Amino acid sequence: MKKLSLPVQILIALALGIAVGLVCYFTGNAAFTASYLKPFGDIFVNLLKFIVVPVVLLSMIDGIISMGDMKKVGAVGWKTVAYFLCTTAIACVIGLVFANIFNGMHLFPQLTLTEGEVWDKATSANFMDTLVGIFPSNMWSSFSTANMLQVIVIALFFGGGILAAGERGKLCKDIVTSFYAVIEQVMTFIISLSPIGVFTMMAWVVATQGAEIIGSLVLVLLCAYLGYITHAVLVYSMSARVFAGMSPVRFFKGAFAAMMFAFTSTSSAATLPVSKECADELGADSEVSSFVLPLGSTINMDGTAIYQCVATIFLASCAGVQLSLGQMVTIVVTATLASIGTAGVSGAGMIMLAMVLTAMGIDVNLIMIIYGVDRLFDMGRTCLNVTGDISCAICVSHWEGKGGNSGARASRRG
Ligand code: ASP
Repeated sequence: MKKLSLPVQILIALALGIAVGLVCYFTGNAAFTASYLKPFGDIFVNLLKFIVVPVVLLSMIDGIISMGDMKKVGAVGWKTVAYFLCTTAIACVIGLVFANIFNGMHLFPQLTLTEGEVWDKATSANFMDTLVGIFPSNMWSSFSTANMLQVIVIALFFGGGILAAGERGKLCKDIVTSFYAVIEQVMTFIISLSPIGVFTMMAWVVATQGAEIIGSLVLVLLCAYLGYITHAVLVYSMSARVFAGMSPVRFFKGAFAAMMFAFTSTSSAATLPVSKECADELGADSEVSSFVLPLGSTINMDGTAIYQCVATIFLASCAGVQLSLGQMVTIVVTATLASIGTAGVSGAGMIMLAMVLTAMGIDVNLIMIIYGVDRLFDMGRTCLNVTGDISCAICVSHWEGKGGNSGARASRRG
């Protein structure tokens, strides 16, 4: 029998989970799901928690090492990174604005917590304490307590150190690259178990929270998609217009093939060849796009940043936690860094969401509430991620005075 693809398995698990949950809810058997199904979901969440520290550490160091080549490309490198960072920070703000509007209109639920359930509360600390707290005094304790901001700082230091050490740091660099390749495989394996996590947790969530939770999931999806669309129109098409004189219609038409491929494949990395084709058709310089697009598919994830902001506010609301303005700023910083650390593969953003939640002191187990529909978030966020890379390639080409005509490029290749 032909093996079903992972998205299909997840979809089936989602439908089954909702069906079993509803039956248990209406027959008053919620306790059954809590005793016999949720533990399997817990195992899945434990695996996510276990993988998040090595993934963040290694992917961030790996990302910094790959930026080391920037010296070779000089101005293009810095302009690209500046574009990526600015647009990602704007994406976080857009995500937070939409999430707060939805939250303010009480469209996000506050869940009734099952007895004996322990939900961590987000801790509020003042800015200076937070600042001091992100610098680790003991590396091992940062790892063992999964203090994500400290793990990021450690990664930044090690990545910088490896680059600074040059030839002498080569062994370390190879070790990081090799470990990262291994951890990616482990991550793929854990993600392949997600249908089990989706089924058991969805059944439990619906059985304990009732059918209304399904409506809430539709709303949080709507919120994220509003953020994605706003960012694509306001930031990407506008920057292509302002910096490259390209009309939004032409931009979206030219990027359409890559956007659709990303939407269906949910992988920026897999979309790379199509993005390159689209960017070059839209007049980006081929040398510039050869640098910008691979780097973008590794570190530029504005869709992921919006998703992480929206999901964090949504899950905080579910746990009954109201976040302060200072904590929102922390979300912008962590989601920006988390999106940089997200690999351009299917479902990676959800693992990094665990990092944002941990950094905010929100219970990672809550992820299971939205995990069942993660694929639907992922389709939109990957589509946006890829659009951002193309827009960046076009803008940087023009800043470098290399932006050309789409037609000329196409005919040269032909
Ligand atoms: N799937 C996304 C991408 O490849 C990453 C994510 O899961 O957010 O761009």
